[in-house]
Amino acid sequence: MPILVMKFGGTSVATLDRIRRAAKRVGMEVANGYDVIVIVSAMSGETNKLVGYVSETSPLYDAREYDAVVSSGENVTAGLMALTLQEMGVPARSWQGWQVPINTTSAHSAARFIDIPRDNIDAKFAEGFKVAVVAGFQGVSAEGRITTLGRGGSDTTAVAFAAAFGAERCDIYTDVDGVYTTDPRISSKARKLDKIAFEEMLELASLGAKVLQTRSVELAMRYNVKLRVLSSFEEPSEGAGTLVCAEELIMESKAVSGIAFSRDEAKMTVVTIEDRPGIAAAIFGPLAEAGVNVDMIVQNVSEQGYQGHKEGVTDMTFSCPIDQLKRAEKALLDARDAGTIKFDRLEADTDVCKVSVVGIGMRSHAGVASKMFETLSNEGINIKVIATSEIKISVLIDRKYMELAVQALHDAFELEKA
Ligand code: ASP
Ligand code: MG
Repeated sequence: MPILVMKFGGTSVATLDRIRRAAKRVGMEVANGYDVIVIVSAMSGETNKLVGYVSETSPLYDAREYDAVVSSGENVTAGLMALTLQEMGVPARSWQGWQVPINTTSAHSAARFIDIPRDNIDAKFAEGFKVAVVAGFQGVSAEGRITTLGRGGSDTTAVAFAAAFGAERCDIYTDVDGVYTTDPRISSKARKLDKIAFEEMLELASLGAKVLQTRSVELAMRYNVKLRVLSSFEEPSEGAGTLVCAEELIMESKAVSGIAFSRDEAKMTVVTIEDRPGIAAAIFGPLAEAGVNVDMIVQNVSEQGYQGHKEGVTDMTFSCPIDQLKRAEKALLDARDAGTIKFDRLEADTDVCKVSVVGIGMRSHAGVASKMFETLSNEGINIKVIATSEIKISVLIDRKYMELAVQALHDAFELEKA
């Protein structure tokens, strides 16, 4: 039997009624001839509630017990989904992480997969069970303790099962009907994409489009797992949702496929540091140790007399999430106190956002950057930092222009047209 993985997010299993609706979909795929592995999230709001219980009980909690508590939401939905399927006459059995077993590292609350042996579930399929309902987001460590994968981890569980069982596809049921050219709340012209390449989805996901956990897309790309994102609230139809797949399956790509943004960015400039070999390492080493996710980096030219600087000094600018700025500042001041770097001062800018255009078509289309910059200039938007990769151009601009920039770029690249 071909295997299909179906993942239902928190809103799709939020009530018994919705679990019934989801179970019906599973029943349809069983009728289509699949053995189905269903991955469930906790009912929406449940994981947050459990995290709250833990913090209230023990602010400096033991990570093993945190995982024991927060993983429990998925156990409930897995059991209920199996019962609902049984009531519908579909032979189903639920599985918690340790029963499969889903073997992970011991990094509690941020565990990584080691392997997922197929034997136990395969044996149940061989007995005539049609559905294995697996609790998402959890696993078991070599010490035999329950682990969790980090928030949003059920997406990654689903992809890992699809890879381990050679599933034909991994369908991710959620509360939106697919991946859009940009956030429809920002641009009313946003259009649902039929297909998007792994690499584009990865850029969009890590740039702030929140449909899929980034790790799940990485895993899907590595194991070439076809992902489909679709809504559990719409009637099933041919070609519903968005297929996230290998580039080769996408016939013709426009230069730009989507526009991503992240609102809560900050920019910091280390003013007047000495320009010598090792200075970048001396700055970014302490930042990494402090857990600061540095994103864009610009080192300014260091000619003699540049902006009145002395010879042999330069400025270094970087961006990071706004809530990490204080940590970045402390790490750099500590490094200066310790004597590993010398600089005059730090200049922080907390009113910036990042807007990015993404598309694999950029590899073969020229002029994307100039069109982007011209569009922003026509709107009178000043660009503060630019960064590029092969399939992405990102700019840092004033936060108050974010919506305007996204809308203008969406128009300029004609993303409303298929
Ligand atoms: N329930 C977990 C969370 O809220 C995992 C998931 O739903 O993907 O993060
Ligand atoms: Mg999710």
